[in-house]
Amino acid sequence: MSNYNKVTDEVVKKLVAICGDEYVTTSEPLRHSYMAKGIMGLEAVVPEVVIRPANAEEVSRVLVVANENLTPVTPAAGGLSGGFALPAIEPGGILMDMTRMEGLEVDTENRVMIVEPGLKSGDAWRIFKTKYPEWAPPIPDGAPPAATVLGDAIERGFSLVTGVYGPQADMIMGMEIVLPTGEIFHTGSWALPGAKPFYRWGVGPNPDGLFLGSQGSMGIITKCAIKMVPHPHHKTVVAYGGETWDDIIKPAWEISRYEMGISERTVMVQGGNYELVMTRWPKTNVPLDYEFYKKIGIEKKWMNYECWAHTKEELDYTLKKIDDVYKDYEAKEKRHTPQQDLHPKQVASRLKKPNKIAIPYSLWQAGFLFITWYCPWLESSKMMEEYCAKMEEYGFPPTMWVASIDHARQAIVMPILCYDSTEPGILDKIREFNLETTRSFLKQGWLNYRPDPFVHAPETFSKAKEYYKMLVKFRKVLDPNLILHPGRLAIPWETVTDLPSPFEE
Ligand SMILES: Cc1cc2nc3c(=O)[nH]c(=O)nc-3n(C[C@H](O)[C@H](O)[C@H](O)COP(=O)(O)OP(=O)(O)OC[C@H]3O[C@@H](n4cnc5c(N)ncnc54)[C@H](O)[C@@H]3O)c2cc1C
Repeated sequence: MSNYNKVTDEVVKKLVAICGDEYVTTSEPLRHSYMAKGIMGLEAVVPEVVIRPANAEEVSRVLVVANENLTPVTPAAGGLSGGFALPAIEPGGILMDMTRMEGLEVDTENRVMIVEPGLKSGDAWRIFKTKYPEWAPPIPDGAPPAATVLGDAIERGFSLVTGVYGPQADMIMGMEIVLPTGEIFHTGSWALPGAKPFYRWGVGPNPDGLFLGSQGSMGIITKCAIKMVPHPHHKTVVAYGGETWDDIIKPAWEISRYEMGISERTVMVQGGNYELVMTRWPKTNVPLDYEFYKKIGIEKKWMNYECWAHTKEELDYTLKKIDDVYKDYEAKEKRHTPQQDLHPKQVASRLKKPNKIAIPYSLWQAGFLFITWYCPWLESSKMMEEYCAKMEEYGFPPTMWVASIDHARQAIVMPILCYDSTEPGILDKIREFNLETTRSFLKQGWLNYRPDPFVHAPETFSKAKEYYKMLVKFRKVLDPNLILHPGRLAIPWETVTDLPSPFEE
C-alpha cells in the first residue's frame, strides 16, 4: 500500500490555521459519526481529522499541506452515496466535509444554476419552489434531502428528469476544480476569465469527464454550473403492471423511443417488483406472501411514468398515447398489462420532491445496499431475471428497481440488498454475491457504476486494462503524491490494498 503519514498535531495546527478552530475536529465521536457502511458501499475507515473549508482557496491550501505531509484527503458532500465514500485506506487521513460551501446562483436567462458542493437537494428544491417556480433544479429523484446537487452530478447519478436529460453529469456546463496539487482551474467556457458557463466544451478539449465518476479521486470540485429545467405544472403519475420483466420493459421502450412527441414529457420512468413495497416495512410486520399484495391490487411488476406537461391538452395527449402503446402491446403479445389504480396519495407522494420513497429500506432488517448497473434498456429484463434468482439463492428478498435513462437508451438496474447487519459474516456473503453477479454481467457487456473497490473495480478494470492504465496515468499527472483517496475505483490498486494486483499479466 502507498505510504501515507498519520495526521500529527503539527498537521492539525496547520489545518486550524487555514480553516479556523471551529471547523477542524479530531473528536472521536464526531469522526465516527461520519462513518457508514451500507447504502452504496461497504468499505470505510474512520478519518483522523474532519475539516470544513469555506472556499476554494482554503481547499487549495489544505491540499498543499496534505502534499507536504503525505496525508490522504477524502472529499465528502452529503455523504449519502455510502460510507461517505470514506477512505478505503489506512490511515484515514483528512475528511474534507464540503457542506459549509452551500452557495447557489440562478441564471434564468441562460438556464443554468451555479452550485457549491454543500448545496443540499432539499434546499435547492425549496428555493426553486418559492423563488423560481417555473424552473426545477436537477436533484436526485429519490435521495434524501441532505444529498447534494453536486454530489449527485459528480456521481453521474440519476435526477428527477433523467428519463429525458440522461445521467445528471450530462447536465454539467462547467466546473471550478482544485487539483490535488492545490492549483485551481475551470472547465467549459468558464476557462475564459469573465465568460459565463454557457458552453460545456469550452476553449478546447474538455477534460471534465475525468472528474465525473472519479469518486473524488482526481480533484475537488468547488463550484459547478449545471442546467436547470422547465417546471411545467400539469403533472401526474401513471403506472402499468405485468407478470414478467418484459411486460414492463418492452412497452416502456416503445413509449420512450417516441421522442419529440411523447417521451420528452415522461421525465421519470421507473419500475420494479412487489418486493419493493414489502421491504419498505419491518420484516416482522408485513405479510411476505405475494397473495396479500395481489389482493390489494399490486401487480408482480410495474412501471411508473411521471409526466410533466405545459398544458392539460399536452398531458392528456401523452397519457392517451401511453395507454395506446399498452393496448397494442397486450393485443400483439397476448399479455395482460393493466393500468394500476393509483390512490391520489400515491401520486402525490411520487410527485413530492425529494420524494424520500427509498429511505425506508433500512426498516426491513437494518442494513441495505444499493448496487447500480447500466445496460442497454431492452437487456435489462435479462439482468433483473438473473439478479432476482441470485438474490433468492443467497437468501435476500429479490427487491429490484429499474429506471430509464435518456429515453430508455440505457437502463439503470438497481437491486436493493436488504440484510441484517448484525448477522455474522454478512458482509462476506454480500461480497460473494457481488462477485458472482459481476463476473456474469461483465461478460454480457453491462457496467457497474459506484463500484466496490474489491469487486466491481478489479473485475471491470482487469477486463478493461487499457482504460485502467490510462486512468492511472492521468491520476499520476494530476496527483503525483496520490494524496486524494483512491475512491472505489481503486486507481491505482496499490493505494487500496497490499493484495496482489489483478491487473498484472
Ligand atoms: C435513500 C437513498 C436514495 C437515493 N436515491 C438516489 C437517486 O434517486 N438518484 C441518485 O442518483 N442517487 C441516489 N442516491 C445516492 C446518493 O444519495 C446520491 O447520488 C447523492 O446525491 C450523492 O450526493 P452526496 O452529497 O451524498 O455525495 P457524497 O456521498 O458526499 O459524495 C459523492 C462522491 O463524490 C465525492 N465528492 C463529494 N464532494 C466532492 C467534491 N466537492 N469534489 C470532488 N469529489 C467530491 C465523494 O468522495 C464521493 O465519492 C440515494 C441514496 C440514498 C441513501
